[in-house]
Amino acid sequence: MKQRVWAHAVTHTATKQVCHMISIDFATTLRELFWTLYISLCPLSSFSTPLALSDASIPFLSFLFQFLSRIMVLQFLPLKISCDLSFWSELNRLKLEEWKLDESPRPIVATLPPDARSKTTYFLILDHSSLHPPEELAYNQVRGTLHLYNTLAELEDVDLHQKIQELAPSDVILNGTWQTPKDLLTFSLIMYADLKYFNYHVLTAVPSIILPQSFKLKKYTFTDADGALLDSFKPKPRQEFPVLWTKDGEKSFDEIGLLNPEKSFLIYHSLEDDFNPDAMHWQVPNLLFALAWNPTIKSIRIATIDRNLKLVNVKHFKLPTLPADENVVFYGWSQKVPQLYSLTEFFDRNQLMSISVDLNLKLTRWRMVPNLELDKFNIKVLIIGAGTLGCNLARGLMGWGLKNITFVDCGKVSVSNPVRQSLFIADDIGKPKAQAAAEALKRIYPTINSQSAALKVVMPGHPADDEEVLRDVDALDQLFSSHDFIFLCTDSRESRWLPTILALKHGKPVINIALGFDSFLVMRHGLGLNVGQVNPATADYKDKLAEIPGDQLGCYFCLDVTAPGDSTTNRTLDQQCTISRSGLSFTACGFAVELFASLVQHRQGPYAPARLTNTDENAGTLGGTPHQIRGFLRSYSMIAPTTLRSSVCSACGPGICSKLTSQEQLHNVVLTAVNDPGKLEVICGISKLQQDAENMEDDILTFGDSDTESV
Ligand SMILES: [Zn+2]
Repeated sequence: MKQRVWAHAVTHTATKQVCHMISIDFATTLRELFWTLYISLCPLSSFSTPLALSDASIPFLSFLFQFLSRIMVLQFLPLKISCDLSFWSELNRLKLEEWKLDESPRPIVATLPPDARSKTTYFLILDHSSLHPPEELAYNQVRGTLHLYNTLAELEDVDLHQKIQELAPSDVILNGTWQTPKDLLTFSLIMYADLKYFNYHVLTAVPSIILPQSFKLKKYTFTDADGALLDSFKPKPRQEFPVLWTKDGEKSFDEIGLLNPEKSFLIYHSLEDDFNPDAMHWQVPNLLFALAWNPTIKSIRIATIDRNLKLVNVKHFKLPTLPADENVVFYGWSQKVPQLYSLTEFFDRNQLMSISVDLNLKLTRWRMVPNLELDKFNIKVLIIGAGTLGCNLARGLMGWGLKNITFVDCGKVSVSNPVRQSLFIADDIGKPKAQAAAEALKRIYPTINSQSAALKVVMPGHPADDEEVLRDVDALDQLFSSHDFIFLCTDSRESRWLPTILALKHGKPVINIALGFDSFLVMRHGLGLNVGQVNPATADYKDKLAEIPGDQLGCYFCLDVTAPGDSTTNRTLDQQCTISRSGLSFTACGFAVELFASLVQHRQGPYAPARLTNTDENAGTLGGTPHQIRGFLRSYSMIAPTTLRSSVCSACGPGICSKLTSQEQLHNVVLTAVNDPGKLEVICGISKLQQDAENMEDDILTFGDSDTESV
């Protein structure tokens, strides 16, 4: 039954060949004509991406192809290159993170999968893995080259004729070093990638030899013996490349010179069941040319069989004896000018935004800061206070690509807030501040993980129900445990005390931002509970006389001579209002964000030392890591002092730190501070210091009196 089907097919094929017995050079001319028409009429399909090929164009292409097929003898189905989104995504990553400005050609691989064919072409598929070629290729992979230029002008200046001669596998063909037809197939992508807008200007090529005139198509008559031979063909399940078939089964291409050309076939097993009956595979010319270098091969019969084992066509070629100086010319560009592929619309807007944010940061690594480690910004930040400082700070942190930000604030957005607190608008009035701030971040950057907690920050000297106090303390304690870096952005001195001691308890770094009316302070705190002890993490700091290690730096309360207490009650309206000059919070938050970035990038992180004298601008990847930055708007000046952790500090001194080693101790210290801040002074040692100072004052007075008296 199969025999009958073949007979029908062969009659059709043979008739056409008798009618069109012409020399190959004319066929080649026609082929190029077809190619030119095909490309110029169907620019959308020429890159072969299924994304670019509209449904509406398919019937038109099919009609065109059938029309052209009636006027041509030899047709070669273009082998095209199709790249999926994972390929582009990985290409972006490699260009940004590894290749950067290096334009060297890159080896890549493509896959010839059985199902990636249309009626008019078949595809080489590239995906993420194509950019990481394995040493040994899989059965259906071929090697190729990617050449990525840094500018569009460079790409447009490429001499395409010259370039394809360089890219073609001519050495393999001319040296006869090929072993299987797969070795004769290669491909190339040359392109310019505008990574910011996901626009790719691309030219693709699958080099194919232009067969010289001396190659002739012979008249072929199908015989019963041929039918029997082809009937015995048993394709392997994975048959992407041609095989040499004899009555004894498949033969290696090494043996081709020994075979009787009248009793063997070179078989292309097409898996497409409606393969064009006049067409041949794109790989055929290279293979014919390579075979012609073997003087014992005078002719070859090429059969194409579809996936139902139906014979599509047989072409019988007479192979010439090629002169040693035979001029080899390749062609095979998919188009004559770079084609633009914009993938912007295929990326989800939020995903695109996320990629672009990272992209801007990655671009800084190309020239400005090659050692920038962006992974270090992948940390969770806790912002205590969602007012003017918290809002501006969060915007600055987003710019560094931070994606995990949590606000703590128990207040609500008031009518006066939106004009100064940059994350709020009039519609937010009355909403919980922390929640409104977190929502605002999501409006700006939808993929950010912004959270909120409407928590009251317990303050010394502000008594409340003990149980309620401890509940709030434990909730905040939990947040400190689950975040990596803390910013203090509240608007009163005492509200910074509990966050300061919780950060010490958890060993978390803190940056504290405080505003006066026209001055600001940005300061990082020492880390951990060990005061005055050498920490292994900082033992190797450079100069013990000129620097203080990061964990031994003073905190916001270190220079105070009293413990924090209630500073807001019994104040007049203007005293309660913590207003500053309008531009000041932007300035202060800007410095806080950059101090954070410098610390995160420093090899010792928050343990980075601070110099006692001038800031070392080469301390880390982003420069210095000062302890404090104090700015004065009236004189437009700044200083960067460094101070040691105080031994009697009411927040970070050893007296307090020694009482933070258990939750119960924490509760006791906090309740003491809340209900009787005076006792805090006893615990930390300030009261003793005060007593000593008073005693010293008495001594001085006594001395003075007696001295006076003596005069
Ligand atoms: Zn302190």
